[in-house]
This record gives sequence, structure tokens and C-alpha cells, in this order.
Amino acid sequence: MSSVNERITQEIQSIAASMLESGQVAAFLGYSQGTLPGTMQPFVARDVEDAKKFSWNSFCVINLANYLPALLRSLEPPRRRGEPPPEGPLPKVGVLATGCWSRNMVVQIQENQIERQRAVIVGISSRGMVSRRKLEAAVGYREITHIEEQDNSLLVRGDGFEETINRWDVVRDNCQTCVHPDPVIYDKLIGSLSGDRKIPDRFRQVEEIEALSVDDRWQWFQNEISSCIRCYACRNACPLCYCPTCFVDDSRPQWVGKSIDPVDTALFHILRAYHCAGRCTDCGSCESVCPMGIRMRLFTKKLQKDVLELYGFEPGLDPDAPLPLSTYKMDDPEEFILTHIKKGDKK
Ligand code: SF4
Ligand code: SF4
Ligand code: SF4
Repeated sequence: MSSVNERITQEIQSIAASMLESGQVAAFLGYSQGTLPGTMQPFVARDVEDAKKFSWNSFCVINLANYLPALLRSLEPPRRRGEPPPEGPLPKVGVLATGCWSRNMVVQIQENQIERQRAVIVGISSRGMVSRRKLEAAVGYREITHIEEQDNSLLVRGDGFEETINRWDVVRDNCQTCVHPDPVIYDKLIGSLSGDRKIPDRFRQVEEIEALSVDDRWQWFQNEISSCIRCYACRNACPLCYCPTCFVDDSRPQWVGKSIDPVDTALFHILRAYHCAGRCTDCGSCESVCPMGIRMRLFTKKLQKDVLELYGFEPGLDPDAPLPLSTYKMDDPEEFILTHIKKGDKK
């Protein structure tokens, strides 16, 4: 009997092959095996032969929505800046989407980064992805040379050891606290939907930090980012970070220094987190790619909690719900901005 991942892999290969063969899509975005055990890489298939390379397991940790806008643009005929897009339908892309990835695609549609009709979304209800870091800790940081995944366990081998690890124990923190594992928008579904999960303490990690004094919170924040090498892998893996020039790369004006000076590093993390407020889906992509093990996802998780409490809003769940931080109403409760606008006052 085949495992869940083997069945999903077979379905992905067959759906992608059929979409590519029929010409429904010009490219299909999924995952293929990475070079090391326990790593997977985003992969674009452009023909039926390529589709055989697709694979699926618990190490598909990078949010595929991140690659969608550029892939769609790459299929458009070249045109000069400011020129309107050509008339007629443009080539489509097939793409896999779990719950959070699909929610990021909703945000991308709302922010005009992709056109819904050009993405053929193949939904997969997520069982949670594994944290490579947790797995390494579970085997005492010995070198892993082989991983075999079963439905609920991982057989891990290395030089002179073999251990069976319970899969859920090493699932990423964001996946363990995920309440929306099902894709929100999709054109085809692999397997079935599993429904929202009830997790009463989904913000437990944030609440533990909120309970600290202001000084201790600042200390916690500084400790957390102290090993940051400013490689920007977290920014590059995030589907929300599509600015043509990020504030950290700007030199006129230079908003933030390029060094790993603690003030510059803190500024980078605070600004990046705030740029994601009301948009972050807690996909965990940023944290999964950090080479230094920094838990920067907790910064955006705190803002996710605030946006939920202040606006009752969760990003990407409803394509018709406007994003709270880019929508303005005169009766918004923002006394700190709108003070005493009286009749007859100059606005
Ligand atoms: S950190 Fe901010 S400025 Fe930089 S790419 Fe992300 S959203 Fe854009
Ligand atoms: S900030 Fe991190 S968790 Fe949030 S959407 Fe971006 S990559 Fe995902
Ligand atoms: S990926 Fe990690 S080390 Fe790199 S900039 Fe982000 S937090 Fe810093």
C-alpha cells in the first residue's frame, strides 16, 4: 500500500502532465527532490517529461506563491516599461497550493501581483511540513544521510545510527498551530479537504513573550536577532516581499545601514515585520530558510495576533475582504491620527 505522499506525488505528476500536454498551462510549479536528504526544491516543469520529476513530502517548506508572479511575467511577450499588456489571453501556470500558500495567492490577487485567471491552482490540504532543525535536534545533531518518510514517522539514518522519529514531533511550529490547512482557492483538488482545526492556544508562543516586561521583551528581541548575518534569505523566501527595491537595498536615501550593527539589524527586522502586518499567512517560509535559526516568524505572528484582535481579520481567507492596513474609512478608530477635525477646519 502506497503512502499518502506517494499518492500525492503520483497525482501531481499526472495532473501536471495532462495540463502541460493539453496546453492548458505553459508551465507547472511544484517541487522536486533537493540535493540533500530532507530537502526539496521548487521546480518548474515545461513539458510532460519534466512532470515526472515532481515529488511531494513533508520537506516542501518554501511557499510556492513566492515564485508565481515572476513565472507568470516570464511567460508574457517582452514589452517596454509602461506599455500595456498585449490583447488576448496570456499563458497560464499550474501551481500547487496548501492552505497558507493559497492564502498568499489571494493576497497577491488583492495586491494586483497575479491575475486569478492565469493561475490554475491545484489544492492540497496540508498535513504540516517538517522542521529540518527540529529533526536535526531529535537525532542529536548527528549528520543525516538518509530519510525515509512514512505517513506518521520518519526513519532517519546516519553514520552508525538509525532512528524512527514521530512525524508530528518535528512538524514546524507554524504548522502545529495552523488552523486553516485547506486551500482557500483552487481549480483542482488532490485528496480531500480536512476542515479548519481548533487550536485554542495558537498564539501561545506570542503570549509568552507578551507576558514579559518591556525591558525583558527588548532583551528577548535583541537576543533572537543577535546572530542575524543580514543574508535576506527570509525576505527572499517571502511571497509578500516583491518590492522592486527593498528598503534595505536602497542607497538614495539609505534607510538602513548595510552592516550587522545591532541597530541596523533591529531596524531591518522591525520594518520587515511591519511591512507584512495584515498580509502574513504564517506560512513559515522565512523561518525555514534562515541559516542561523532565527525565529523571525514570531515577530509577524505577533502582528497577525494584533490584526486579528483589532480588525477581526485574517489575511487571504476571503478574496473579497479588503486588506485592513491598506483600506481607509473616515470612521476608523484612529484617534491618534484623526484628532479634532471639526466642521470648517482645513483638511
Ligand atoms: S522588507 Fe519591505 S521593502 Fe523589503 S521587499 Fe519586503 S515588503 Fe518590500
Ligand atoms: S513573513 Fe514569513 S510567515 Fe509571513 S508570509 Fe512571509 S514568509 Fe510566510
Ligand atoms: S534569513 Fe536569518 S540570517 Fe538571513 S537576514 Fe533573515 S534572519 Fe537574518
